[in-house]
Amino acid sequence: MKREVDLNEISDGKLYEINDMVKADCGDCKDCFACCQGMGQSVVLDPLDCFRMTQNLSGTMEELLGAELELNVVDGIVLPNLKMKGEGETCGFLSREGRCRIHSFRPGICRLFPLGRVYGDEGFKYFLQLHECKMENRTKVKVRKWIDTPDSKRYEAFVRDWHFFLKGLERKIGKKGDQAFSNQVSLYVLKQFYLTPYDGPGDFYEQFGKRLEAASLL
Ligand code: SF4
Ligand code: SF4
Repeated sequence: MKREVDLNEISDGKLYEINDMVKADCGDCKDCFACCQGMGQSVVLDPLDCFRMTQNLSGTMEELLGAELELNVVDGIVLPNLKMKGEGETCGFLSREGRCRIHSFRPGICRLFPLGRVYGDEGFKYFLQLHECKMENRTKVKVRKWIDTPDSKRYEAFVRDWHFFLKGLERKIGKKGDQAFSNQVSLYVLKQFYLTPYDGPGDFYEQFGKRLEAASLL
């Protein structure tokens, strides 16, 4: 999701790479679950997030969309996000005890928090959001460890490719200025990358790469 903010106001002014140490570690969050509620539509899910969820919960995207997820427009394209529910505007995966029920396969944005990503022409770097995590006295941790995602090289390539693919579509939609085209793109993206099941035991990145190659004709 695109955010127009001054990085100097919300961060420590530094940019980090995967092997850098950053003051992001809030321990085990203790009794805090502040970032699991009131997040609106901001926890947008990428195809890897949904692949992990459907595999680990043995469910379909359609089932998840009827429960913990919802669809919303992000920069002109319809994408899934975590649905905040009830009076407390709470993530549907948060347990009564205030713990994440899907911790081992939680979405990428949850893994990243309180880090964010800032994109340049060809890639991205990480930054530390200073005012988002409620825990004081966070300690230093390597970005790679914090994100806790295996095969970080392929993961970062996936994140980059997905970002620039969506940005390319956003530009095409903007140029056409046509609602029918925008709807067509959203339907295609949902079907191609989210609703059509992936082969569970198979390699996600390989399958994603093939789908992305086919989608480049869009
Ligand atoms: S998926 Fe887990 S970590 Fe992410 S917002 Fe929901 S409860 Fe919190
Ligand atoms: S605000 Fe910080 S300490 Fe609280 S749940 Fe989120 S990451 Fe953990």
